[in-house]
Amino acid sequence: MHQRLLGRTGLRVSVLSYGASPLGNAFRTIDDDAGIRAVHAALDLGINFIDVSPYYGATKAETVLGRALKGVARDRYILATKIGQYGEGEFDFSAARVTRSLDESCARLGVDYIDLLQCHDIEFADVNQIVDETLPALMKLRAAGRIGHIGITGLPLKVLTETVKRTAPGTIETVLSFCRYELNDDALADVVPFFAERGLGIINASPTGMGLLTERGVPSWHPAPRRMVEVAREAVAFCKAEGVDIVKLAIQYAISHPGIATTLVGTADPDNLRKNVEYAMAPVDHALIARVRQILAPIHRHNFTRGRPENRDTLIP
Ligand code: NAD
Repeated sequence: MHQRLLGRTGLRVSVLSYGASPLGNAFRTIDDDAGIRAVHAALDLGINFIDVSPYYGATKAETVLGRALKGVARDRYILATKIGQYGEGEFDFSAARVTRSLDESCARLGVDYIDLLQCHDIEFADVNQIVDETLPALMKLRAAGRIGHIGITGLPLKVLTETVKRTAPGTIETVLSFCRYELNDDALADVVPFFAERGLGIINASPTGMGLLTERGVPSWHPAPRRMVEVAREAVAFCKAEGVDIVKLAIQYAISHPGIATTLVGTADPDNLRKNVEYAMAPVDHALIARVRQILAPIHRHNFTRGRPENRDTLIP
């Protein structure tokens, strides 16, 4: 699998990477053993970057991932987890919680070192606290060698760029954006130069828009407005009629941007994991992708936002 440098971290990450939220039953109740096989398949097929969070399944995803990683050589994977979000509406970005959270994540994951520790969904936080308290706590952990690198994650691009602007170079090393570089929304591309100039590694997540661009469709908690879901269903039906899995096009589109180091896709199904790796390496039918994007044009960038009012993106109504 092709790899790209993750900003200035020195880490080389596979262009398609593994998002572990499904291991916490984010989309459906999973068979844990199948989820573990999906992780092993990912590693065997050249995926070397794994992302998780204590929030996913209220620590379940980290626990199942820890079982999967047991006995796997530590240099076979680059491990990212997060701090700050722990349950529905439960956030704590305090310095004291950061250190405790890292210790707890390491215990669940069965490791003593996290390659990348990220502030999870900072649109729900007071950015002053992130800048003045959370990031300094993470910098202490980095200086002490407990973690390799520091990142931030969130849905609105505005809060990611604004937070980076408020910190000294080298403080934040990666940004994780989700649902903003997928077949129906390419807004992340606009800010790639901003992050690249500052040497940040860009992680794109949710190439299917958290299930929007799959045959199964969105889970009940999905925030997409009805119109978005309806148009996405048209695109799914079109691909089905063409005999092509829309997930293939979604993955190929997401990994095509050379300025985005990696794209996280989630699955707890080993067969889907294998398919996703095949899709990432298969020849790309650019004309077909263009036709699907044409079907999705009425909802292009009509995405959802969330977080504190001051942290939200202004979106096309
Ligand atoms: P995704 O777009 O990767 O979609 C996952 C959904 O697609 C699941 O329902 C999965 O079963 C399905 N799927 C995957 N491969 C399939 C296939 N071949 N055929 C049919 N269905 C398939 O969305 P995601 O899981 O939300 O995002 C990926 C990862 O990115 C997460 O697991 C998480 O690690 C990370 N992420 C982080 C944040 C954040 O930090 N704020 C937000 C979103 C995602």
